[in-house]
Amino acid sequence: MAEPFTTVVGLEVHVQLLTQTKLFCGCRNQFGLPPNSATCPVCLGLPGVLPVMNRRAFDLSLRAALALNCRIAGFTKWDRKNYYYPDLPKNFQTSQYDLPFSLDGHLDINVHPDPKKGYTAKTVRIIRAHLEEDAGKSMHDDTGRGGDSKVDLNRTGTPLLEIVSHPDLRSPEEAVAYLEELRLMLRELGVSDCEMQEGSLRCDANVNIHVPQPDGSVHATPLVEIKNLNSFRSVGRAIAYEARRHYAEYKRDPAEFRIDKRLKTTAGWDDPKGETVVQRHKEDAADYRYFPEPDLVPVVVSEAEIQAVRDAMGELPAAQRSRLQSQHGLSQYDADVLVAKGRPMVAYFEALAGLVGDGKAAANRLSDLVFPALTERKEEIGEFPLSAVAVADFLKATGPATKQGRADLFKHVLDKGVTAADAMAALGISFAVDEMQLREAVKAAMAGNPKAVADFKGGKDAAKMALLGAVMKANKGAPNDVVRRLLDEELAG
Ligand SMILES: [Zn+2]
Repeated sequence: MAEPFTTVVGLEVHVQLLTQTKLFCGCRNQFGLPPNSATCPVCLGLPGVLPVMNRRAFDLSLRAALALNCRIAGFTKWDRKNYYYPDLPKNFQTSQYDLPFSLDGHLDINVHPDPKKGYTAKTVRIIRAHLEEDAGKSMHDDTGRGGDSKVDLNRTGTPLLEIVSHPDLRSPEEAVAYLEELRLMLRELGVSDCEMQEGSLRCDANVNIHVPQPDGSVHATPLVEIKNLNSFRSVGRAIAYEARRHYAEYKRDPAEFRIDKRLKTTAGWDDPKGETVVQRHKEDAADYRYFPEPDLVPVVVSEAEIQAVRDAMGELPAAQRSRLQSQHGLSQYDADVLVAKGRPMVAYFEALAGLVGDGKAAANRLSDLVFPALTERKEEIGEFPLSAVAVADFLKATGPATKQGRADLFKHVLDKGVTAADAMAALGISFAVDEMQLREAVKAAMAGNPKAVADFKGGKDAAKMALLGAVMKANKGAPNDVVRRLLDEELAG
């Protein structure tokens, strides 16, 4: 049964950019270095230092913003967001407030997957994407014995892209689909590795529910921002939990539990307990005393620069999906499976499809043979020992094999590093002998079913299926296409 309310979600996503160095200094931007080893007077905020913007970080952000169909501002500036926290030695974060470099974009996503019907398309509007620096990391003693807190400032000043969506998402599943598409796109573009465990993709979810009223109006519940969700699973669970909690609160006291646009509550997510923990009522922008950063020059972006970044972007996942469908005859679902595995896999598929001359067959063989092998060998397609040419040769050599026979041969070829012919010899498979035996089986089936033969010759095409069935029953696992051919030949003879 459908829920008696609509879940409304907007997401704020922070991704760490794949730059060599930090946003305003030359310190290394790398995960896992010894604590406080990648710091300098600039990112430590010592007196008298001057920051200089990392142009590479700006270009990567521009790439992401263009892929998100954002409008790019020709002139953009930096602002100081003032607050005090031990992991922020400068006592302000350099960010963008009223003039972000990009605005008003959208990301098209596919929701509600169904192997038969495909997907439903949905457009999620993007409010803005802006660049800012990250803070450091505080580490608190969580044993409850009152130990020390420590701070690691390696992350201080590393470049972050914040992408804020409109509240266009309508379920936990849609929120996860949006994140998956965003992650795929940012990885393909080389903007971020989007590793949630390492914190290079972080997500805050703004959630409330809309309850339809008898008079046709909608009752909206207060906004809650669930902070720092660190896995896609947590995002889905936290939103579902929060929506249920809102409905229970609404039922208890509808008059009291309604939205107030000036207030937003922040909450954390306790994953082991599976519940949100309300933390505080959030400051609005005035509390941060934003003001323009006097030490950095504004950034001017020319049309030529935007075009150069656009030209270097390559084909985005959505365009790739529709091209695979139109050019190679793939279903929406098959195209999505391939595209989700990244550009190198799409290139591999297209090479194989060209050699085999049949996109659907190439996609099927990838999922029968190559995908399971990659999973088993824990390899990416770039490390896979068989090229698309080698797989095409293998398929040609093993054409008449059954699905299981082909899988066994493929495993042998991979494990032993031998040719398909060697594998067939080693496994005692010979299609020539099989074919002779199968022809005898076809003849035997015809001899045993004279009525079906007579019916077929009398014009009943369906009678052939009875003969085919008889052969396949007596020869389990025989290659269907070969039996069909032999049967056609014998019936014609
Ligand atoms: Zn530094």
